[in-house]
Amino acid sequence: MSDEQKHYHIWTMGCQMNEADSRRLGSQLERLGYAPEALPEKADLVVMNTCVVRQQAENKIYGRLGSLKTAKEKNPEMTIGLMGCFVGVREATRLKKEFPFVDVFMPPSDTSALIEYLYENELYTEELENRQMRDLIQDSDLLLPIEQRGNAVLGYVPIVLGCSHACTFCIIPYRRGRERSRQRTDILTEVRSLADQGVKEVMLIGQIVDRYGQDLDGDYDLADLLRDVNGIDGLERVRFLTSHPNWMTDKLLDTVAELDKLCPHLEVPIQAGNDEVLKNMRRGYTVDDYLKLHDRIKYRLPDAAINTDIIVGFPGETDEQFMDTYNLVKELKFDKVHLAKYSERPRTVAQRRMEDNVSDAEKERRRLMIDELFKEILTETNKKYQDQTLEILIEAKKKDRWQGRTGDNRLVFIEDERDLLGQLLDVKITATRPFSLQGELVDKTVLVNS
Ligand code: SF4
Repeated sequence: MSDEQKHYHIWTMGCQMNEADSRRLGSQLERLGYAPEALPEKADLVVMNTCVVRQQAENKIYGRLGSLKTAKEKNPEMTIGLMGCFVGVREATRLKKEFPFVDVFMPPSDTSALIEYLYENELYTEELENRQMRDLIQDSDLLLPIEQRGNAVLGYVPIVLGCSHACTFCIIPYRRGRERSRQRTDILTEVRSLADQGVKEVMLIGQIVDRYGQDLDGDYDLADLLRDVNGIDGLERVRFLTSHPNWMTDKLLDTVAELDKLCPHLEVPIQAGNDEVLKNMRRGYTVDDYLKLHDRIKYRLPDAAINTDIIVGFPGETDEQFMDTYNLVKELKFDKVHLAKYSERPRTVAQRRMEDNVSDAEKERRRLMIDELFKEILTETNKKYQDQTLEILIEAKKKDRWQGRTGDNRLVFIEDERDLLGQLLDVKITATRPFSLQGELVDKTVLVNS
């Protein structure tokens, strides 16, 4: 590589999996000698890590590709990489024709094409062996990118890549490939490395995280992995997401209840509250199955937050069927609802075989109804925290306020002049709102960061 410092810029859209992939890529690029650059047009290498889970997200990609094309026209030396679900496991050839100004295409969670490209085109020297490159690609001893070093409180760690479930609405299996669990030694090395670099909370992630280990030899499962992660020094909290209702075993729930670092916070999408719709979505459970799971969770973890995902306006969803979903939200009083209007995704069963026959206005009406209901539910449930003391992990400072989360994942704001980043603190709640709480430190003699 020449003496001149090269710079990279990564644009990240979408889920925690993409956040984790971008963090890994940033780390790899810095080990190859690149430095971060905030402005894409000033960078030598720009990578767009994409999401296509909804049409809206995909539209944004086309807009951003347009600006990158202009940037490359001004600076033909710029290297452009496209990564993530837009590329998927088999779209690269088609995309190469459509976007000839893009130099490298990478499927989700796989940076090898870019690293190889850089070695071949920019970095190759006689001393750099291929083996060194491969070590870098496979290395799980993750060194945080320089801008995150010393201030990254949270770490996302992928443990299951891809998904083999094929719900009829979902594009993920087509873009992220079949389900693959990572080896436990790689995961534990990565978590230890993050903890050594000051990360206090790790979130183990996967499209169906509770299927961890099903595709590996032996019977080591998510509960066993959580036990091992719980034993890592320096970590304060462990979470995992997203769970599929069918794989939430009693062993897993008992483990969450038993381990001291495991947060009482579960992400268990229901998607719809009507059996016919669930069947059409090919989710693999009924409303009654979900209700039984809800009881099993509340029996073992009475204070656990249960968060869910819901899609409104799935093909053929009648008003009556939607009301089943609405009434279920009312009954179960979820702690968080990730709400989405159904949008057709290419190659999915729903797109090929079902008519997208709920109008957008009707989808929006349904979305707003659940949104309003959820706001009412949270206004009520959050009131119980008034004047209570909760343990908060401080994650960031935004607009002069510290922001942290409770174990059950409620957002809390604190005003304090001192440096509280990364501290686990007792906070007395002074005001409650539907989507956040406001508090003040209980222990005024808190040990501040130096
Ligand atoms: S479980 Fe269903 S919704 Fe989740 S990623 Fe797999 S196919 Fe998509």
